[in-house]
Amino acid sequence: MDYKLSKIQSDELFFKLKKDYLILAPKVFKGEGRYSDLDSIRYGEVSSFEEIEFERKSHYSVKEVLLPINHITEVKYNGQSMKINNDSKKRLIVLRSCDIHALKRIDNKFLNDEYYRARRENIKFMVMECSKSFDTCFCVTMGTNQTEDYSLGIRFLDDGILIKNKDDDFNKYFDDDIPKYKFDMNFVKENETNVNIPDIKEWDRETLLKAKSLSLWDEYKKRCIGCGSCNMSCPTCTCLTTNEIKNENTGVTEIRRIWSGCQLVKSASFKDGKKISDIVPKRISQRVFDKFYMPKLKTSNEQICVGCGRCTDNCPRLISFSTTVNRFSQELDKIYVEEGLK
Ligand code: SF4
Ligand code: SF4
Repeated sequence: MDYKLSKIQSDELFFKLKKDYLILAPKVFKGEGRYSDLDSIRYGEVSSFEEIEFERKSHYSVKEVLLPINHITEVKYNGQSMKINNDSKKRLIVLRSCDIHALKRIDNKFLNDEYYRARRENIKFMVMECSKSFDTCFCVTMGTNQTEDYSLGIRFLDDGILIKNKDDDFNKYFDDDIPKYKFDMNFVKENETNVNIPDIKEWDRETLLKAKSLSLWDEYKKRCIGCGSCNMSCPTCTCLTTNEIKNENTGVTEIRRIWSGCQLVKSASFKDGKKISDIVPKRISQRVFDKFYMPKLKTSNEQICVGCGRCTDNCPRLISFSTTVNRFSQELDKIYVEEGLK
């Protein structure tokens, strides 16, 4: 059922939902952006529909709700250990279509992870329309521009909201006096940015070696600084480093996981006199392969990348992931022609 709610009615709805759910959505963190005076938009608990930032894309993704940047999975003391996997609060997450697709990608990898599963079990999705395609998005190419996989859909209006309710669990929140208002969710149908997905279905060892040694990757030697900002903002990058941290006073050891990433160059990488420029070309190629190659062969028919463009938005060296992928696709096609495969 679809509804049209005035500002007062939407406040009342929010109040009722908040009694049962922790409501998480992209919101503005004033002055916490990359440069002074810039805001950061990321996920956090919101206390009204008005607090949700829907006009601008969030810098960081919904993955931090399920896998926070720094989290404890286990505590050990005196020969005993306790897993931290009991966080089963009911959460209502407000997100975009591409973000739902990204969470599905993470599910494929993490549903056997106790910590992740405990948080994932009680989640409901409220999908928000994108009022426009942002300039770096290529969700249409990746097929992530629309979804039916949500409980509630929301459109923000100047004087209230439209809500689509597809989940009977939410019927009780809508009083009979709320006007019904039939509408279809508007999803983005085209992007300014288009990507030619690398054609890597039939990739043999020889092709892989040629692809790895393309001169294209060396062009990033002087551009990429190995900051890992692309990985941190990516909704589908899920590399984690696990550390054991013992408190010498209490004797308690925490097992902590911290976000990591293929493009985050750590000091250990500089051994044997290596410089950043020796390291980053391989890392860039690895990220392209991982997002477009590995999944096809190993896990599913979907690409890992959902085309959200956040890696491009957050790169301090203005490296465009879509341009990198398009250039790689072109080079790969040349390799196929060389090998007589096209
Ligand atoms: S690789 Fe870039 S465009 Fe693809 S999902 Fe990650 S952040 Fe989004
Ligand atoms: S954000 Fe840009 S500079 Fe930083 S590691 Fe990624 S590609 Fe390199």
